Amino acid sequence: MSESPLEFSGMIASEGKALGRARVLETIAGSVPHRSLMPQEVGPELSRFRDAVQASRTQMKELIGAGRLGHELSAIFEAQLLLLEDPMLIDETREKIRSRKMNAEWALAEEVGILKDFLSKARNTIFQERAADLEDMSNRILSNLMGVPEGDIRIPGLKDLPPDSIVVAHDLSPSLMLHIRGNCVGIVTEAGGVTGHMAILAKSRGIPALVHVANLTQKIKEGDALLIDALPKVTGAGVAPAPMRVDSGQASSGRLVCRPGEADVEAYHVYISGLRRRSEAGVRSPISLPDGSEARLWLNLDQLPESDPAAGASGVGLFRTEFLYLKDPTLLNDPERQAQCYADLFSGPLAGRPITLRLLDAGDDKAYPPQAAVRDRDLRGVRFLLANPNILESQLRAILVGVSRAGAADGQCRLMVPVVSRFEEMEAVRETLARVRDEVEAELGSRLPETALGMMLETPAAALMCEVFASNAAFFSIGTNDLTRLAIGVDRDNTLPYDELFYQPALFRMIAMILERATVPLSICGEIAGRPDLLPILIGLGVREFSVAPSAVLNCFESIVALDEHAFERGGEQARRVCQAHTAADVRALL
Ligand code: PEP
Ligand code: MG
Repeated sequence: MSESPLEFSGMIASEGKALGRARVLETIAGSVPHRSLMPQEVGPELSRFRDAVQASRTQMKELIGAGRLGHELSAIFEAQLLLLEDPMLIDETREKIRSRKMNAEWALAEEVGILKDFLSKARNTIFQERAADLEDMSNRILSNLMGVPEGDIRIPGLKDLPPDSIVVAHDLSPSLMLHIRGNCVGIVTEAGGVTGHMAILAKSRGIPALVHVANLTQKIKEGDALLIDALPKVTGAGVAPAPMRVDSGQASSGRLVCRPGEADVEAYHVYISGLRRRSEAGVRSPISLPDGSEARLWLNLDQLPESDPAAGASGVGLFRTEFLYLKDPTLLNDPERQAQCYADLFSGPLAGRPITLRLLDAGDDKAYPPQAAVRDRDLRGVRFLLANPNILESQLRAILVGVSRAGAADGQCRLMVPVVSRFEEMEAVRETLARVRDEVEAELGSRLPETALGMMLETPAAALMCEVFASNAAFFSIGTNDLTRLAIGVDRDNTLPYDELFYQPALFRMIAMILERATVPLSICGEIAGRPDLLPILIGLGVREFSVAPSAVLNCFESIVALDEHAFERGGEQARRVCQAHTAADVRALL
């Protein structure tokens, strides 16, 4: 008899529905640490790896020598001992530490993934058994490297997931997320928050995701059939096409169903075919509004697109360049490859459209270099760049060479400074940019295209002083993810539900204040911009430029197009009232 469905609820981190099989990633804190080494760290890291291998060898020998294992188990352990001498495993891992400057855990996990994949494809059962031995042995080495019990470590091949994989994990760091390749159709985690960068990356890749799902890794087993329903509760969800009407009380909660029944599976297929139909119609920008003004849709990206994510969008309102460097930490030290990366961006599928490059925004959950264990609490965004002038200069130089190589037009490349809070920060970046521009022009012997320098408004300090900053910034983009969490005093990796984060009257008051005082063009690029329930209010407040994840652009477009005169006026009235509301509950009641 087949077992009945098992349901979990979680917070929606990235909207959509998914159907697939569980790939359970069990690790301490969700992942082995991924960290790029400084050149001087390579030697000590090789020694650390050698010591962990030696400790594993001693432990195995002790186990065998104690004579309590029985003949069969001893034979298995003897065979595993040989793996510790295996050049494919040990030498290749050392090579990764040495030449690719990966930390030992990361290098070993990657090598084991490659070897296991190779062995598991073999028909021969002996080879398949070797795959299990390999995993056991690598877990032992990892446990010695990380100082944790062996049972806590499990690393499936994240890179080449089989078709329709739903990744199930306790937590997933943004840097680990960057290494998910292949066929990931959904993500569910026990930890995580709705505005963490894992959620942002999932959205940007159009992968439905739920976070904060209790008891997940205890109850879900590898290979279980799973269905994710990460759609805000809407009238006719899964059946009617957009525009969606969100039941805001339920806006942030979604379902994970293990062993889904027929009704859920059918609703999934209906949703997918509806989405396909809607996507074919596409989006356009600008969109005329009933008052005669125009709204514009822009994209938030974090990787070079292989195809145009939304042909009708105006361009890229936020390119999170830090993810280029987090994914490939060697990029910053390779001026040629770095410049070519920007040249490819400007001459690729988005050629000809404006692209707003946000300078490397390190800190919080995006530690750079991607050192999972180290979190510098002082250096976020522009502070990090000004404390590391070689990084800032290297990036600016690469961008300027890249846009010149791509033949970008004046104004097509816009530069944006992250997490600004002090006036002098913009001055310092402006000076560096002018100097690097002069140097690059002299080297290339040609005039570079104009690049406007704007800034994120994502700290309350910058929001309050925006009219002052306007003298030093060509444009603003409101980053409500950081602005909100800094205003209400929570960490970036907070796990507050959506309602508690974004229905705060203080947030709407801040946006209204910025709109009143800002004298330069302004857009909004935080996750709030992609919420159909809040769009009429943001438009009511006066926002006209929205930069959203590719997976949110269709919903956004449909919600704006649906604003007839009545809905537009209602949005204006709601905007006025949310600014006067006292509580998030009052705001929710108004939606
Ligand atoms: C923001 O803070 O709203 C923002 C868009 O930047 P990020 O999410 O990358 O911090
Ligand atoms: Mg931010």
